[in-house]
Amino acid sequence: MHSRYRDRSILAMNTITESRYQPLFEPLRLGPVIAPNRFYQVPHCTGMGHALPRTLAAMRGMKAEGGWGVVCTEYCSLHPTSDDQPYPFAALWDEGDVANLAAMAQQVHAHGALAGVELWHGGSYVPNLASRLPSIGVRSMPSREEPVQSQRMDRADIRAFREWHRAAARRARHAGFDIVYVYPTHGYLMWEFLSRSLNGRTDEYGGSLENRARLFREVLEDTRALVGDRCAIAVRFSADGHGDEHLSREEAHDLIGMLDELTDLWDLVVSDYYGEEMATSRFVRQGSLEERVAQAKRLTRKPVVSVGRFTSPDAMVRQLRSGVLDLVGAARPSIADPFLPRKIREGRLDEIRECIGCNVCYASNYRGAALRCTQNPTMGEEWRRGWHPERVPPGKGGTVLIVGAGPAGLEAALVLGKRGYTVTLADAAAEAGGRVTLESRLPGLAEWARVRDYRMTQLRSLPQVSMYLGNRLAAAEVREFGADHVFIATGARWRRDGLGRWHTRPLGALQGAVLTPDDIMRGARPSGAVTIFDDDHYYMAPVIAVLLARAGARVTYVTPTGHASEWSHYTGEQHSTQSQLLELGVEIRVSTVVEGFDGAAVTLGCVYSGRQWPHPAGTLVLVTSREPDEELFRELAGEEPADAAANIQRIGDCRQPALIAHAVYSGHKAARELDRPEEMTAAGRDRSIVHGS
Ligand code: ADP
Ligand code: SF4
Repeated sequence: MHSRYRDRSILAMNTITESRYQPLFEPLRLGPVIAPNRFYQVPHCTGMGHALPRTLAAMRGMKAEGGWGVVCTEYCSLHPTSDDQPYPFAALWDEGDVANLAAMAQQVHAHGALAGVELWHGGSYVPNLASRLPSIGVRSMPSREEPVQSQRMDRADIRAFREWHRAAARRARHAGFDIVYVYPTHGYLMWEFLSRSLNGRTDEYGGSLENRARLFREVLEDTRALVGDRCAIAVRFSADGHGDEHLSREEAHDLIGMLDELTDLWDLVVSDYYGEEMATSRFVRQGSLEERVAQAKRLTRKPVVSVGRFTSPDAMVRQLRSGVLDLVGAARPSIADPFLPRKIREGRLDEIRECIGCNVCYASNYRGAALRCTQNPTMGEEWRRGWHPERVPPGKGGTVLIVGAGPAGLEAALVLGKRGYTVTLADAAAEAGGRVTLESRLPGLAEWARVRDYRMTQLRSLPQVSMYLGNRLAAAEVREFGADHVFIATGARWRRDGLGRWHTRPLGALQGAVLTPDDIMRGARPSGAVTIFDDDHYYMAPVIAVLLARAGARVTYVTPTGHASEWSHYTGEQHSTQSQLLELGVEIRVSTVVEGFDGAAVTLGCVYSGRQWPHPAGTLVLVTSREPDEELFRELAGEEPADAAANIQRIGDCRQPALIAHAVYSGHKAARELDRPEEMTAAGRDRSIVHGS
């Protein structure tokens, strides 16, 4: 029994200011351990895993410091036959991994939270690129993306797998974890056994539901017998099965009843991972899992946790009060604001940095890099740069002029204001927010306005920051202002000439109505049929296609890649994006580029054959690349910014046109490092260093 957790949570309860949120701060018994409150950071991938152990430990520890009562690992491989390289998974293969994950558990415990580990075996899904071992599965079948198949498990393999799982559970306990997961979901090994269509076995592991669930039950029993006296046993399970061909909803519900006694906690998800559980705010709203989780919850006597991208404390309390959930699960809201629970506890609701549901975090992991977040620029920098999401070092004082109140300028103003500088923030537009304000009016992007709104709300409590909207500044005015430091955050403009990835020179032959996303966001509308050329490959072109198609235009979407919005594969949105375009009747032309436009037709070209043909269009919308809006910076700093201009710097899109996440990060970094040259070189590198030979 970890009584220290109970003591701390009682202390914590004394500071609750709003009694209606008190249920969120009640402790809860999970088998042999007690969660200090109802804030539960469910397992989520980080792009750190076993490769960046210090980075991981500090990031998870920060969540605990921020008040999350339970903090879990990401998927944690239990054996080298479950190797998901190049995606950075956690691992508990050996004592080295125990030491590294013990560091995480310690940092979580230091703040009175429980540490959970999601033991995981990927089965046929993983290609084992690094370990080079054959992958194993219920039968031989292809891996997710490599041209290799798994080896069918015979009884000896099943026995070996159970032993590996036991060994990993033992290591988990040694590492100090309080909650150990059994994970028969999301397409991985034990899920293969549950699947009616994948499991064609004729032995005692195939056929009836009881047989298909045999391995799951055995592993549950093994884990409970081995570590159940000290650790809670959690099961991550789909509340609505996985479709009738795999595991029907009724079968999933039967299993919850059959295995309830062996679990201490159900971590419920739903069958549609990309389309719903992990969906972006473009496609799914907060709390969408509720009905299915509520149904499953009626079948168990054990505590239930589930997610829903909850950022509203009222929505959280409602989930608890109505009995849908016992613990409020979160991945993304805990990334965007590691201090969300504390802010609720202390009644600082307007300080919550709400997740915008963009999945840029998920994309980092998918690209094999440490997690970054649009809203929280300190995410992933807790260890490397020692950044704290709620604290910044005091500055030397002085005046700063920031030109441009987009995400970069707003974030810089916030950090500099907190550091004690006297900040003047000017923007030519009547409204703050820059691109965020414009983009959040596009279909499905309303939540993105939170990037602006969070910062505007915080700035209101900083009297040393003044904002002047409707003020376009020229170089002379900036000079005349005479600030000690000048930050230029003037953003970027979409190009009108087609230059981008495909066309490395401006397109020559463009006549007639050519629009850019900036024109459309400022209210311009096309005449006649529209062709949109997407050489950006993310959300902008499809979102414009949706806007125009809904307004009744005949839209053709053209892209040189093989799919609509190819890059959004990494944010998990590609499938939903292409489906949405098809539903709206948008004609999709992949592997195709726009070569010219004469006002009546665009010339399209095949990227493989070079064949060209005309396609009728009254308007061409070019979504290709952006040009930094750096005239002001150049005028002030010259072509080769030298020491004379050391007090002038560019931030955000005007320095490097990129995602909103990059602009926020850029503003944050520049503001944090002002007058602190040592910060700029202090970044640590998380790696193992070879000693001796
Ligand atoms: P970022 O993403 O880098 O923050 P944005 O494009 O979102 O960039 O914002 C840039 C902001 O700068 C816009 O709101 C724009 O109105 C403003 N801006 C551009 N040039 C000037 C200028 N000369 N004076 C004042 N504001 C400017
Ligand atoms: Fe939310 Fe986007 Fe941050 Fe992910 S990157 S936590 S989705 S705001």
